[in-house]
Amino acid sequence: MSRDLFINSTILISFIFIISQMFRKNFLALSTSYRYKFLYGLTQGILGIILMLFTIHITPKVIMDFRHIPIMLAALYGGGFASIIAGSTIAIFRMIYFGVSTPAIIASTNMFIVAIICALFSKLNLNQFKKWTYMNLISSLIITSTFVLIIKDLIVLRNTLIYFWITSLIIGFLAYYIANYMNTSIKLLNRLEHESTIDFLTGLNNVRQFDKYLNASLINVKNKDEHLSILIIDIDFFKKVNDTYGHLAGDSILQQLGVVLTKSSRSFDIVSRIGGEEFSVILPDCPSQQAIEVAERLRSAVETNEFIIQDEIKINITISIGAATYPDNVIDLDTLVNSADTALYSAKHSGRNKVCQIK
Ligand code: GH3
Ligand code: MG
Ligand code: MG
Repeated sequence: MSRDLFINSTILISFIFIISQMFRKNFLALSTSYRYKFLYGLTQGILGIILMLFTIHITPKVIMDFRHIPIMLAALYGGGFASIIAGSTIAIFRMIYFGVSTPAIIASTNMFIVAIICALFSKLNLNQFKKWTYMNLISSLIITSTFVLIIKDLIVLRNTLIYFWITSLIIGFLAYYIANYMNTSIKLLNRLEHESTIDFLTGLNNVRQFDKYLNASLINVKNKDEHLSILIIDIDFFKKVNDTYGHLAGDSILQQLGVVLTKSSRSFDIVSRIGGEEFSVILPDCPSQQAIEVAERLRSAVETNEFIIQDEIKINITISIGAATYPDNVIDLDTLVNSADTALYSAKHSGRNKVCQIK
């Protein structure tokens, strides 16, 4: 019996780890997408089935396991829909695999009731631990009723219930602790991964992400024989803005500029902040003529935009843009960014507030 208990709880704990890794990338989608809720419920249901297959024999005829715990996990992290899917999966398998009999009908019905109750609890405005505790207590009560209905021998019933309640409470809390630990770590890791790619001030791609997109675009262009354009953008006389209105006002302008650049680019262009007041736009599959049009649109949008700084003061700024396009005016892909930089230098030295292209 303790061997079975060890196997059942080990399976449960290993699968909590495996399932949380499976849904790592889509963890946020669990609260919005029914497709992921369904998959999560189904996966937890399959865990319930595995727990049933490696069940704990209390006597040769009486069995118990922790199949209700995957239903509770489905409810806690995937919500009501996932809970019903997990419960139905377990209930249907119970009937098909072990055959239709009175104990099978009682056990399946009760698993379905557990799923409905957990679904209801998942909707309550309680913290996760309280939800879990209530779900565990009520699920254990429902399973108790299964034992009461199925086991006729009172001594066996008493021993079963004592064994079930002690292990269900302990393994239940252990499962909660591990699932909570895993999911908190996943959330933090996802946030860290996201934050390492964006610029904290403007919310645009940061320089690291720019490099990543640029390398991917370079590989893509080599394989597909397409055009690739790049714009490097620098604010004109930005030092003066900082000196006049202060660094915070300067930061606010950088934020607003990020919005203007994003709005005026095409939806598939990649806008990044690559330095203090330097930005870049990667224009995939864009020949030089079109790149100049986009750059001109950005330049003019910035020139006409009123940037708001503290105390309702509005100012205008201008930007200079250097553009380079493979293969139109740059043949060596590795020099694409340098060429756009050189073009920016020309724009700065020929009067600013203009777009220059590499010759
Ligand atoms: P120009 O580019 O037209 O030659 O003149 P500029 O005055 O803009 O010169 P430069 O591009 O060298 O300016 C860099 C200035 O940008 C220096 C610094 O004051 C400002 N700057 C850089 N990063 C930040 C930032 O994160 N916040 C703020 N507020 N200012 C920044
Ligand atoms: Mg600069
Ligand atoms: Mg500048």
